[in-house]
Amino acid sequence: MTQFIDCLIIGGGQAGLAMSRSLLDAGIENVVLERGSIANRWRTARWPSLRLLTPGWMTRLPGQQLAGREEGFLRAGDLAARLQDYAAGQGLPVIEKIDVLALEKLGDRFRAVTSRGSWIARSVVVATGACDRPRIPSWGRDLSPSLYQIASTQYRGAEQLPQGGVLVVGASATGVQLGSEIAASGRKTILAAGSHVRSPRRYRGRDLFDWLDASGFLAEPNATGRSPAQLMAQPSMQLIGSDDNREIDLYSLARRGVIIAGHASGALGSVVGFADDLARSLGLGERRRQRMLSQIDAFIGSAGIDAPEDPAARQNTGLLMPMNGAIDLAGHGISTVLWATGYRRDYSWIHFDACDADGELRQEGGLCDTPGLYVLGLPFMRHRASSFIDGVGRDAEALAPVIAARLGASDTLQAA
Ligand SMILES: Cc1cc2nc3c(=O)[nH]c(=O)nc-3n(C[C@H](O)[C@H](O)[C@H](O)COP(=O)(O)OP(=O)(O)OC[C@H]3O[C@@H](n4cnc5c(N)ncnc54)[C@H](O)[C@@H]3O)c2cc1C
Repeated sequence: MTQFIDCLIIGGGQAGLAMSRSLLDAGIENVVLERGSIANRWRTARWPSLRLLTPGWMTRLPGQQLAGREEGFLRAGDLAARLQDYAAGQGLPVIEKIDVLALEKLGDRFRAVTSRGSWIARSVVVATGACDRPRIPSWGRDLSPSLYQIASTQYRGAEQLPQGGVLVVGASATGVQLGSEIAASGRKTILAAGSHVRSPRRYRGRDLFDWLDASGFLAEPNATGRSPAQLMAQPSMQLIGSDDNREIDLYSLARRGVIIAGHASGALGSVVGFADDLARSLGLGERRRQRMLSQIDAFIGSAGIDAPEDPAARQNTGLLMPMNGAIDLAGHGISTVLWATGYRRDYSWIHFDACDADGELRQEGGLCDTPGLYVLGLPFMRHRASSFIDGVGRDAEALAPVIAARLGASDTLQAA
């Protein structure tokens, strides 16, 4: 069976839902196709102990009034339930358990071939997220089969890993959180750290995100001249959401027994090479932190806000004895390699020329160079918060009138 629609939205995460709501506001008939359930990745590709990095008030989506300013950090499952409620409460046209297997061009229209029939659409919004597949370095293939390899998307708790120690590769938010959890379970833990951003949980009396939001930092447009692949390779901030607002960084992990190494650069069997670059990565991570704090200080000064000084956040008295060189993991009792090395996109289901040489959609602020094709929810798409729950709504609201203008709000496909 073939169905017709003005705008087809592929993906029922926060981006797809925000887009649907914004298009309804603009009078555009749309449908959201989701291969699993609403908020599928928050339910199936995140670990059970995960709490959001962003405070509760940063879960605003278009048309949603939050009751008061919610502090604290939601669990992934709670967020999924909220997104489900949002879709129901806003009456969004979401169809679940329908997989878009292929998207084709059909003249100036699109045909989506799905696991349950086809859709013809005048416009399509790709809202499939930035986390289709774990990005695992190619040298992972050179690791001995005796080492158990697992991506962060599959990790469900330290108790489910084979006996023995764990090498965590990656030192952004995911790597430091999982390294901390695994070390706390009593296992020997090595963390291979590359590029990262050391970030305070709180600064000058408030949560970091309060300042980043109020100062306009999150709304800053992208630096120009960077390719989509470069923008998406930016490391996330080293942060954890917890009731005690604790800070997490490589120094605090080292104090808790985690062995910190330079970035893991290759392998042969059970021997992994760690680069002698930790001091450089730490230096860069520190500079990024200081830059961010200076920007917040400047905002506090210019806005005349009375906020206590926080000299401790500016200091770094930590010391690290990095591990580097070629290390035999088996000899160190390590049985698992956990990849926290980020994600890549998979647009293999788009059957026309829409991607660049890196496999990223060719787009500018969500407008692809194929007329009628749009994308939403990619990191740094329009600003720093484009992939955040709280930022995607702004992008959806900005794209909706563009899509509407192209379609002509009253000129539906069926009427045409
Ligand atoms: C570990 C982790 C923690 C994060 N923590 C935070 C946080 O604290 N705060 C914050 O603001 N952001 C956070 N983010 C970033 C961002 O909010 C999430 O990545 C979020 O899931 C992005 O939402 P999305 O709707 O863009 O994409 P997704 O949630 O990935 O949704 C895409 C949807 O598309 C569906 N789909 C994909 N392909 C198809 C297809 N072919 N056919 C049909 N359906 C398809 C998927 O099933 C999925 O449901 C985090 C990200 C990660 C990875």
